[in-house]
Amino acid sequence: MGLLDRAGARLTARPEEADILVVNTCSFIDTAKQESVDTILEMARYKTLGRAKKLIVAGCLVERYRDEIRKNIPEVDAVVGTGELESILEAAGIAPAPAAVPSPFTILTSAEKGSRAEGNRRERSGRFRRDEWAGASHLLPTYLYDETTPRLVSTPRASAYIKIAEGCDHPCTFCVIPNLRGKFRSRRFESVVAEAQQLVARGVQEITLIGQDTTCYGEDLGLRDGLATLLDTLAHIDGLRWLRFLYAYPNRITGRLLDTIAKHDNICKYLDLPLQHASPSVLKRMKRGAGAEIFLKTLEKVREAVQQIALRTSFIVGFPGESLRDFELLEEFVSEAKFDWLGVFNYSDEEGSGAHALDAKVPKRTIESRRLRLMKLQQTISRRAKQEWVGRELLLLAEGESAETPLLWEGRTQYHAPEIDGKVYINDFGSLPSLEAGRFYRAQITEAHDYDLVARIVAPEN
Ligand code: SF4
Repeated sequence: MGLLDRAGARLTARPEEADILVVNTCSFIDTAKQESVDTILEMARYKTLGRAKKLIVAGCLVERYRDEIRKNIPEVDAVVGTGELESILEAAGIAPAPAAVPSPFTILTSAEKGSRAEGNRRERSGRFRRDEWAGASHLLPTYLYDETTPRLVSTPRASAYIKIAEGCDHPCTFCVIPNLRGKFRSRRFESVVAEAQQLVARGVQEITLIGQDTTCYGEDLGLRDGLATLLDTLAHIDGLRWLRFLYAYPNRITGRLLDTIAKHDNICKYLDLPLQHASPSVLKRMKRGAGAEIFLKTLEKVREAVQQIALRTSFIVGFPGESLRDFELLEEFVSEAKFDWLGVFNYSDEEGSGAHALDAKVPKRTIESRRLRLMKLQQTISRRAKQEWVGRELLLLAEGESAETPLLWEGRTQYHAPEIDGKVYINDFGSLPSLEAGRFYRAQITEAHDYDLVARIVAPEN
């Protein structure tokens, strides 16, 4: 969006008004592919019904099905993979930016870029190959954006994401993200800090650091505890009220990282730690290792180091060979671990993943019933835990009127990451006539439901 904007395009979110339609896609599991294809087909209709002249498909679906998209959906005029973002201008038929403007991407040559021994080893063993994807290019993306890349922030005014690294070197057998996104590579430390400073200067007060694996940040640059060092530096930016990171890898939670979270008031007491399973035998086949016992020790360490930290995790149910006993082990673990937030995903059998070749596939109906069973268990755990929130006074970011009813507003605390966790509904503005979206308030939790909370405003926060 930033590139198109800088080149003079006017952006609209209304497809019926657009001359050029761009569908940004995802393709790491079946449901994501389906949603992407449905959206492409829906947008294709605007070429006959609306004024659109061009339909461009961008993103991960292109990395996986480059030729197939063009062959099977003739309405598509151009495709743009995740490593060739600059070509969006050519695809849109808009002149590229003047040569005087620096290249918006840091394309790293192999000599320039650091690399992790783990990633190099995995590359030699074929981890990133796309041979099973007919029609995909064999070239992996290598680009990284930097602080000079033009960017339009599409999240609400007070919040922004910063991607600190791209790609992933882990061998998880259910996952094709490394095949889509390439080897792990970190953005330069100074570039991330500069971008955060720019965002805060523009009014952003909450920054969420993302990457396929944020906890590896800096390893390829020779940094030790790179994420902790980065958080420590960013936490000193004046005006940055909330800072958090997502997608931590369980065995990379260092003491230094936890101490850094505990040390700074503006680092959210929140940890997203996708564990994927708890049965040691399933985790072994997933090539992730560990198990319930080790995870419980990790959670104990986290909770000891950072008081009142909110923990999110996600699991995959129905991985090939998952027995009823494996699933029960997962349930026992969930009962004991008591996560604040939990997501459960059905195993998706992806071509190109290590697990695709495994026997003992679990029937789809069993997978779905296990997902429902686990969510039901978490619902009970969550309902009890949320009751303990009642009466607490917390800092709340007001996000706007509730999508469900104009009688309520919605907000988030530091324990809620944008878009993924439960909601806080505001039904009482206290002495204020109205609230302002993107502003922080002190609020008291007055009611708790299974996942959501209800709050009343106490006072605006300066
Ligand atoms: S760490 Fe995450 S992105 Fe990387 S291979 Fe495993 S599941 Fe996929």
